[in-house]
Amino acid sequence: MKTIGTERTVPFFDYPHVFISQEEAFVSIIKNVGRRGAFIMQKDLADFEVNLAAYTGAKYAVGVGNATDALQIGLMAGGVGLGDEVIFCSHTMVATAAAIHFAGATPVPVEAGSDHLMDPTAIEPAITPRTKAIMPTQLNGRTCDMDAIMAIAEKHGLEVYEDTAQALGSKFKGKCAGTFGRTSCISFYPAKVLGCFGDGGAVLTNDDEIYQRVLALHDHGRDHSGEVVMWGLNSRLDNMQAALLDYQLKGYDRVVKRRRSIARLYRERLGQLEQLAVPPGPNDDPHHFDVYQNYEIEAERRDELQAYLKERGVGTLIQWGGKAVHQFEKLGFTQSLPYTERLFERMLMLPMNISLTDDDVNYVCDCIIDFYRSR
Ligand SMILES: *Cc1c(COP(=O)(O)O)cnc(C)c1O
Repeated sequence: MKTIGTERTVPFFDYPHVFISQEEAFVSIIKNVGRRGAFIMQKDLADFEVNLAAYTGAKYAVGVGNATDALQIGLMAGGVGLGDEVIFCSHTMVATAAAIHFAGATPVPVEAGSDHLMDPTAIEPAITPRTKAIMPTQLNGRTCDMDAIMAIAEKHGLEVYEDTAQALGSKFKGKCAGTFGRTSCISFYPAKVLGCFGDGGAVLTNDDEIYQRVLALHDHGRDHSGEVVMWGLNSRLDNMQAALLDYQLKGYDRVVKRRRSIARLYRERLGQLEQLAVPPGPNDDPHHFDVYQNYEIEAERRDELQAYLKERGVGTLIQWGGKAVHQFEKLGFTQSLPYTERLFERMLMLPMNISLTDDDVNYVCDCIIDFYRSR
């Protein structure tokens, strides 16, 4: 929060805060790792992988270069490739579809539902004889209805891979996002709930054989003895980033708690406005534990509201630059997904991060209430 006279500015995301908030601790970790010369695949990474897996309840975690690589490597390790179709929700980052594409398979987009997550009822109509897998995105820090998705997968003999880039610690019926499918990914992009200082990601899996293939795939196809056993990529999580992430993981529950309290405040202040649809509050649904990676609302006269908030110093964002994946014309999708397309005319993300004070959040709410009151 910065105040200029009586005017407050609430940026959508405060990147320097990610580092400055715990600068002393971070600098001492950087010195410690640097002085040991421990840069690639060292103990800090191994420790972080163990702690991350334990945090989610997954059997294994493998640090990789970023979550997009994690998705691709997970699909490749699971045997998804040429000739296969993978169903995904079009309200996701293009990375979900790109990972499917670069694994050699065909991404098949389907509709989002009113919760902005994959609509389970849209899956069956998209199944063809070539469908191999479903890849739901656990979007905005909320986990899909995994009962419904797993039941459809089982009924049709399909595999499930999860895009959990936005959902570390999110749960459905007490089970963590990222532990339902054969593999999943976590992103440590700086603006993610657990962010590093550059790119980073991880693959999660419960499957021993997939784990061995992920290990080889992410390190030039080498096994633990250094023998090349397959064609592989180079996609490793830097040991220094891992050390910084491991430190932050220890305070992660506190971060999630704060985000949930911000969501509660937004919900209390904005939940009654008929011009908006806001996400459920943190305790509204016993089946869901949300980590609120994003606070994505639907708003009447969305563009006007966004401009008004900008004038008042409040930063907002429309996810993915305002388009669902199937709407990127150059990617060659032919599907029309009217519900999702309509959502993209209404959706807006409000500031949601731990640099916000309650006063900041109340200011954002005041501005939104003023907007609908005054015009
Ligand atoms: C951030 C994100 C990714 C990509 O993560 P990177 O670590 O930047 O590769 C993939 N999917 C979703 C839903 C994301 O939000």
